Amino acid sequence: FFIAVEGGDGAGKTTQTEALAEWIRGKGHEVVVTREPGATPIGQRLRTILLDVSSSGLSHEAEALLYAADRAEHVASVIRPALERGAVVISDRYLDSSVAYQGAGRDLSAAEVARISRWATGGLVPHLTVLLDVSPETARERFTEAPDRLESEPSEFHQRVRAGFLALAAADPARYLVVDAGQDPESVTTAARHRLDQMLPL
Ligand code: C5P
Ligand code: MG
Repeated sequence: FFIAVEGGDGAGKTTQTEALAEWIRGKGHEVVVTREPGATPIGQRLRTILLDVSSSGLSHEAEALLYAADRAEHVASVIRPALERGAVVISDRYLDSSVAYQGAGRDLSAAEVARISRWATGGLVPHLTVLLDVSPETARERFTEAPDRLESEPSEFHQRVRAGFLALAAADPARYLVVDAGQDPESVTTAARHRLDQMLPL
């Protein structure tokens, strides 16, 4: 079973991914927690290029292809092997991040961005995507470290990303669990668990 946790920067994806993993482990399943970009050795190098502020001249097309390359490695060497041995995989970001950031955020065609990633992943789609939705203003207040290249984008960029995620969820409601991530972390976890309990055959 493959779960993706998506949302903007500062939505609390990493915290919620860990909380969900612990809960599902408690039900007796093997859970593999992973993330994008940077879950593999090649991915780590791509992540460094992508997040460094010195990459600010990167063309939008090259940026989209680098995220897709990271995802191809991620699926081939981490996600698919784990799913094949029956583990539950929870990924902190997946394909929808590209549609939201490189598509809606950068103003590339969402359909083209999705097509590149579908090719890169051999068409692997999560069974469920948990979208942590929060306003970019609230999210920004949660930053504790110096912002990376993407976090430094203006708030209009992050508004487009948020709208991009919400449009994906609206287009395929059966595959999405949208949670208000402006609440405190415990309430977000409780809301996500409550809905997951009804949706998951776990
Ligand atoms: O989630 P995390 O902070 O590890 O992601 C690293 C950065 O990459 C974030 O700033 C995020 O905005 C950006 N990103 C992106 N496009 C993706 C995935 C992540 O711009 N497809
Ligand atoms: Mg971040």
